Amino acid sequence: MQDKIDRLRTATITPQGLFIGGNWRSARDGALLDVVSPIDGRKLTMIADAGAADVDAAVQAARAAFEKGAWSKTAPAERKKVLFRIADLIERDALELAVLGVRDNGTEISMALKAEPGSAAGSFRYHAEALDKVYGEIAPTSESVLGLIHREPVGVVAAIVPWNFPMMIGAWKIAPALAAGNSVILKPAEGASLSLLKLAALCAEAGLPEGVLNVVTGRGAVSGEAIGLHGDIDVLAFTGSGGVGRRLLEYSARSNLKRVYLELGGKSPNVVFADAPDLEQAAKVSAFGIFRNSGQVCVAGSRLLVERSIYEEFADHVAAIAAKIKVGDPLSLATQSGAISSEIQLEKDLGFAGQALSEGAKLRTGGGRILEETGGFYMQPTVFDVTPEMTLAKEEVFGPILSIIPFDDEADALRIANATPYGLASAVWTGNLSRAHRMVRGIKAGVVHVNTYGGSDNTVPLGGVRQSGNGHDKSLHAINKYQDLKTAWIQL
Ligand code: ADP
Repeated sequence: MQDKIDRLRTATITPQGLFIGGNWRSARDGALLDVVSPIDGRKLTMIADAGAADVDAAVQAARAAFEKGAWSKTAPAERKKVLFRIADLIERDALELAVLGVRDNGTEISMALKAEPGSAAGSFRYHAEALDKVYGEIAPTSESVLGLIHREPVGVVAAIVPWNFPMMIGAWKIAPALAAGNSVILKPAEGASLSLLKLAALCAEAGLPEGVLNVVTGRGAVSGEAIGLHGDIDVLAFTGSGGVGRRLLEYSARSNLKRVYLELGGKSPNVVFADAPDLEQAAKVSAFGIFRNSGQVCVAGSRLLVERSIYEEFADHVAAIAAKIKVGDPLSLATQSGAISSEIQLEKDLGFAGQALSEGAKLRTGGGRILEETGGFYMQPTVFDVTPEMTLAKEEVFGPILSIIPFDDEADALRIANATPYGLASAVWTGNLSRAHRMVRGIKAGVVHVNTYGGSDNTVPLGGVRQSGNGHDKSLHAINKYQDLKTAWIQL
């Protein structure tokens, strides 16, 4: 497969337009943004930099398509066929999509292949299968009345997605929204638009009617804000930083009270007890639970809590695994961790490492920029021993930095695990079944892994509690986000 990847890695990418109402067009004012590849720091291509007028055109196209009913009112069996075709086309072009995405955002190709076209196709297929199995309800009313609960599409859904896994996270929102019969406006991140633009072309090829999926690229502060403030978007689904999440709630309050679903950051605790069944496996999985995609994963296990009796040995072991991770060319199948998505992000990550040192954290491995001669943005997998009051124990880095913290017993572990404002992912490693269940109940998070880290599929929801957000991607629960309930109360 490496030879195929190498043939695709230098393919020319022409400047990309916006996809609105089934047509490719430039931004109204012709503005373009440079796309820089994190692999070598070179310009890859350009994308259209949409403004408020372009967002408005996309919303109008989406609304017109919804009202016309070419998608929203077709029989579920017809919608299902199109969603299956989209999944097939994603699989047909999987390698091309993955390579394109990696050139844009720097994820290691082995991970990107699974997580990007792989998950996206799975998501379209899951929701295609589900869409004619979600029923309305009949309420248990008195004999003289019939109470029907209809599920209706909300209308126009906007999805604003980040750069770490654009296709996967995009599909988690687009697939259930389309399955429910809505029209969609997708706003990719500035640093990861290319694979989603290609996805739009595949959706058209699969027969999705024009205007049902629209893609507007550009700067978050411009086109993202215009989406947030638009008066004719019914639901806004977002994955990204907490700061932008807060703004979206404000935009909603200032405009039409659109429903806002947020999947935000985390500082997820990965708790290792001395009675874990396989400490070797725990160390290995914990290391990759943070360092895959250079730690640019919302559910990354960025706080490793280790029981004091095994602390030194375990921390040493994890640091040794981290030091051996092969960082480098994201398009090589042998690479275990690719590039940091942008120079700005790399600087942020290095800033966190510098701050940790100045606060007195103990550096076990890493901490620096590497492979600078490539022109790309790479950082060593980095491991620090921290104390709970240090910045690294509290703030999300979104980079390849692991913080390790000792704990004394179960109660102490739970107290530290829950001592952030976040609640996205977590894990507990123990061979004690009762302790595992107590921890599952006690940890405040959307997911608790037991004796593993990461890994899930379309059948289970993913979402956060507390300041990690609300609402869930994946599973049947995701479809509910894009539906309204309507009651018919009929006097018989
Ligand atoms: P990250 O820190 O992971 O880059 P962001 O939250 O900044 O995450 O970006 C996630 C998405 O939010 C991107 O598509 C970005 O363009 C968009 N975005 C950034 N700022 C705004 C904003 N003010 N309003 C709406 N969307 C925004």
